[in-house]
Amino acid sequence: MKRDIGRLKSEKFDILVIGGGINGCAIARDASLRGIKSALIEKNDFACGASGKTTKLIHGGIRYLEQFNFKLVYEALHERQILLRTASHLVHPLEFIIPVYKNGPRSLLKIRAGATIYGWMAGKGNLQCHRWLKKNELISLEHNIDARNLKGGVKYCDAQMDDVRLCLDNAISAYEAGCCVANKIEAAGFIKKIGKITGVEASDKLTGEKLSIRASIVVNATGAWSNTTVRMDEPKVPPITRPTKGIHIVYRKLPHERAIILSHRFDKRIFFVIPWRNLSLIGTTDTDFAGSADEVYACADEVEYLLEETRRVFPGESIDRKGIITTYASLRPLVNVERRLAWQVSREHLIRESRAGLISVVGGKYTTYRHLAEQVVDVALRKLADMNFKKCISALIGPSSKVQNNASLRRSVEYAVKEEMANTLIDLLVRRLQLSNTPSLGLDCLQECAGIMAGLLGWTDAQKDSEIRKYREEIRRNTDFFNNPCLVS
Ligand SMILES: Cc1cc2nc3c(=O)[nH]c(=O)nc-3n(C[C@H](O)[C@H](O)[C@H](O)COP(=O)(O)OP(=O)(O)OC[C@H]3O[C@@H](n4cnc5c(N)ncnc54)[C@H](O)[C@@H]3O)c2cc1C
Repeated sequence: MKRDIGRLKSEKFDILVIGGGINGCAIARDASLRGIKSALIEKNDFACGASGKTTKLIHGGIRYLEQFNFKLVYEALHERQILLRTASHLVHPLEFIIPVYKNGPRSLLKIRAGATIYGWMAGKGNLQCHRWLKKNELISLEHNIDARNLKGGVKYCDAQMDDVRLCLDNAISAYEAGCCVANKIEAAGFIKKIGKITGVEASDKLTGEKLSIRASIVVNATGAWSNTTVRMDEPKVPPITRPTKGIHIVYRKLPHERAIILSHRFDKRIFFVIPWRNLSLIGTTDTDFAGSADEVYACADEVEYLLEETRRVFPGESIDRKGIITTYASLRPLVNVERRLAWQVSREHLIRESRAGLISVVGGKYTTYRHLAEQVVDVALRKLADMNFKKCISALIGPSSKVQNNASLRRSVEYAVKEEMANTLIDLLVRRLQLSNTPSLGLDCLQECAGIMAGLLGWTDAQKDSEIRKYREEIRRNTDFFNNPCLVS
């Protein structure tokens, strides 16, 4: 996958997608697979926003049953089944346990009924591990969780994914289908003719060059940045998205085999402790956020909120900040609904077209990205009415990376730079190699990676040092969360 700025400047595209999160990458991929001449621009890097910082679940969302959101759960369970088939290298079944305690916020009856309905709704796609558990059965499966006041629980299955790689693979697959894909290109304004959008004014963040990109249809898939993007077209429009913040803690491996679902006693919210790459992933939170979408980091209160309940469920473990390897945080681009608590806002998506023709998509879950992309491309095709394109095909995705798991560091870096558009150390270590969430935080190979990248990209010593500083700063903000402000609105 190579940046081709000349092509971006010279050609006219049928569809130009702004935003390289999962939604933008999937829309670009779907359009390209249907034979539409497309381009995808991303201001930073693919999966640098919410799509690389999720709970890493492809799931129906059992908790949405409580909100009677059967449509969303049904859609997500259906999509889960498709992804288990089409992206089997990145999406795997995962067992979950829900322990129910006396005086807990949800009764055993309610949890069992919910899990049973969830299994029914999955239909043929059910992962077949659903079981009601008595107290002793639950403890025999997970010996280390608190047995005091435990009434019983349920076991069921959902799926775990590699969110960063799935997003990258969609971008790569779009490119392989003919899409002109470029990261580090920021949309800064719209080109209009007689009130209709005919392209985007953009800037190349690597060179500072300004460019005009022409397109019949422009799609805004900028997630939590959508309000800004929409206002480049309609300066007075009310916010279309209400970004809510979620954080995760990457913790040393706790003694559990399965994902455990906990309800926080403070506000009854559900969150997860999930086995992940020989570590435990604890998350997430869900709060309104008042800061910049470009700077989202966990703060001390949010970390303590998650640790507090995790401690209660693993009483034999000393769970404190010393066990934290790192944290990450991001914003859900939820559809703007006032007068609801952040975690009660629906995860359904909204496709909106402005008078000038900008198609914006907000909301949704990672799990439903394929269906969302299909719907957006269908809307775009209706606008390109005189063309005769194919219907959406749910083709297999990847595996895109041709590098073996045991390849040398040099080979992996070379591949990421030459074939996967890594152009900063953060692109490389956070997203292509995903070392920033490992116990070493990627610091053990930082100098070597910087040296190899400098050689490949012609960095001066000053550029190389600046890249190293930026990476260290990113790691510091995620590990030294005491100093991050909470910025809750
Ligand atoms: C904490 C958390 C946990 C979650 N966990 C799950 C989960 O386990 N399972 C699940 O199904 N869903 C989950 N979700 C929801 C899911 O992550 C989101 O629905 C999805 O990632 C949104 O994707 P997106 O492409 O719309 O946004 P993003 O991934 O945020 O992408 C938007 C992109 O637009 C780019 N951009 C912005 N402005 C411009 C511009 N002017 N020019 C060019 N590019 C621009 C940004 O750089 C960014 O990369 C979670 C969300 C959060 C926040």
